[in-house]
Amino acid sequence: MSQQSQEQYQFIERILKIHVREDVSIEEFQFFYGGNFNLAVRVKLKSGEFFIKWNQGDHHGLFEAEAKNLQLLAQTNTIQVPQVIGVGAIEEKEYLMMECIPSGEINATYWEDFGRKLALMHHNSSEMGHGLSYTNYLGAAEQKNEWNLNGLRFFIENRLKNQIEIAVYNRKIDLDMENKFRQLFEKLPDLIPNESSSLMHGDLWSGNVMVNASGQVVLVDPSCYYGLREAELAFTTMFGGFDKAFYEAYHEAYPIEKGFHERIPLYNLYPLMVHVNLFGEGYVPAVQKILNSY
Ligand code: ADP
Repeated sequence: MSQQSQEQYQFIERILKIHVREDVSIEEFQFFYGGNFNLAVRVKLKSGEFFIKWNQGDHHGLFEAEAKNLQLLAQTNTIQVPQVIGVGAIEEKEYLMMECIPSGEINATYWEDFGRKLALMHHNSSEMGHGLSYTNYLGAAEQKNEWNLNGLRFFIENRLKNQIEIAVYNRKIDLDMENKFRQLFEKLPDLIPNESSSLMHGDLWSGNVMVNASGQVVLVDPSCYYGLREAELAFTTMFGGFDKAFYEAYHEAYPIEKGFHERIPLYNLYPLMVHVNLFGEGYVPAVQKILNSY
């Protein structure tokens, strides 16, 4: 074991000692490099298997917010999420310890169950409107969630304008593009159905969707908020999309208004702008194309 791995092993042992009462001798230990920027391990003890993510303290509060997100989704009793065991910091490193989800193969009704359960999750609304009571993250991007009774205003203020400001400040987009966004904001009330809020996962792409040992869906790494549910469905199409049975079952359980396909690019302006800010100008042409088409 390299010195770095040894230090990480000892760090994990310290976390286990805080959160596990029984014997903490590690039977299996496996690094996991699936995520974006966090480090993770699956660790097996006599008392069970755990999944621990950590960072170097460079995104303060990220795991605390992620733990809250997981707990919020768990309360809906709809789609399974890993149970949170503990969240904390050791020296400058912050971590999140949760139940490990052993993966399996999808069962015959996986996609339709997933669609139906997501619709049930989206039936959870907030009387505060659109937003959330804390700031969280989408990937490494801070996600502001100030409440707004109007879903469209929330989308414009807390999602698009926020990312536009960061992109202009960092000279990733020019003033012409900012103007095009402004013009689009005027048109949005005629383009997007202004529904009541739905509790959403917020980062719903295949990398955050797991299959448990009984072949059912489990969601990880949420970036929750109460918002326009079509934004979540649009997000699922960003990187390939899900099975047709998923969308059909969702629509049957919680119908969406006609014309959704034409609205998808509008909602995806938000994750695209986050990509512009996190990963660079390579995503600007995709944003430009959407702005030019409305
Ligand atoms: P990051 O926040 O760094 O992107 P994720 O939470 O998305 O990390 O996790 C990366 C991968 O690790 C996921 O795609 C999934 O395969 C796996 N994973 C995440 N949480 C668990 C868990 N509780 N149990 C088992 N595997 C997990």
